Amino acid sequence: MSSLFRYSRWASQFKKSPPIFTLFSTATNESQPNRPSPPPIRVGLIDSVGRAVFATRRIGTGELIHTAKPIVAHSSLSSLHKVCYFCLRKLPNYKTHSEAHKNLAFCSEHCKDQSKNFYEIENKADWSRFTEYCRLQGLKYPLLVKRFACQVISGVVSADSLDILQPATLTSEMVSLMEKEFCLLRSTFQETDIKGEHMAFLTKEWYTGVLARMRINSFRIELAGGSYEDFLSSAAASVEAEVAIGNAVYMLPSFYNHDCDPNAHILWVENADARIKALRDIETGEELRICYIDASMNHEARQTVLYKGFGFLCNCPRCLSND
Ligand SMILES: [Zn+2]
Ligand SMILES: [Zn+2]
Repeated sequence: MSSLFRYSRWASQFKKSPPIFTLFSTATNESQPNRPSPPPIRVGLIDSVGRAVFATRRIGTGELIHTAKPIVAHSSLSSLHKVCYFCLRKLPNYKTHSEAHKNLAFCSEHCKDQSKNFYEIENKADWSRFTEYCRLQGLKYPLLVKRFACQVISGVVSADSLDILQPATLTSEMVSLMEKEFCLLRSTFQETDIKGEHMAFLTKEWYTGVLARMRINSFRIELAGGSYEDFLSSAAASVEAEVAIGNAVYMLPSFYNHDCDPNAHILWVENADARIKALRDIETGEELRICYIDASMNHEARQTVLYKGFGFLCNCPRCLSND
């Protein structure tokens, strides 16, 4: 276990968050509805490490371990008119949607219906200044926070529902840089007819807390091209996927720890629904780990990216061997 010591992504948080076991013991809302059996995993704790995901039976190479729907997802601004506004599936006819075409499109009636929990709130406001600010500054997390805030206002999720996730450590400089985006977000809501009591949660503290969690836990969604077999053969190298279509936050996938030579991988095939697949045979009781970063980087680059992005120094077997 000593080699796992620095996998402290969740170490400081798990004591605050006892409900994870009841949340994921059956995983009814994260597994596919036509897959009645729960996924072959459990979320457990490792001393000094915190949350980790373990196999509850032998899992074979290439097996789909489970799927996960996003808690919140948002397309990248460059993909806004090219993908479904809800599930981020590529729209087949996006080329006919010119940039001047202001209507956002959904891939299906189902997605349109599913998006009601944020879209009706979002539609009450004029987001042009907020979106333009994010575009100019190259910001992606505020878009996720905006969508999450709309979900909270519409009442489908509670304002503290992401608190279970580990937050990034924000410097005071980072927090002060968020002042402008937060003010834009709040003033955009304040210009609507939404009642003040429904926005009472929208404080600077709430905003920075949610954003701190999104920084660590959001996944950049790149659709994998080709078959899964193609993907497996190229997985060890840098996966040259297409440019990110968006970003999303999930619950269960956030509990996977990192490894620079992982035994599992998260991928997206057609939309923001995540698939966790086994990259090799995994034994009962073995911890499942994914790689948070581009595994093809060298040892020094990986350490730097992991420390800056996730706040830990990796001590996985590959790093210990200086590979
Ligand atoms: Zn869709
Ligand atoms: Zn490592």
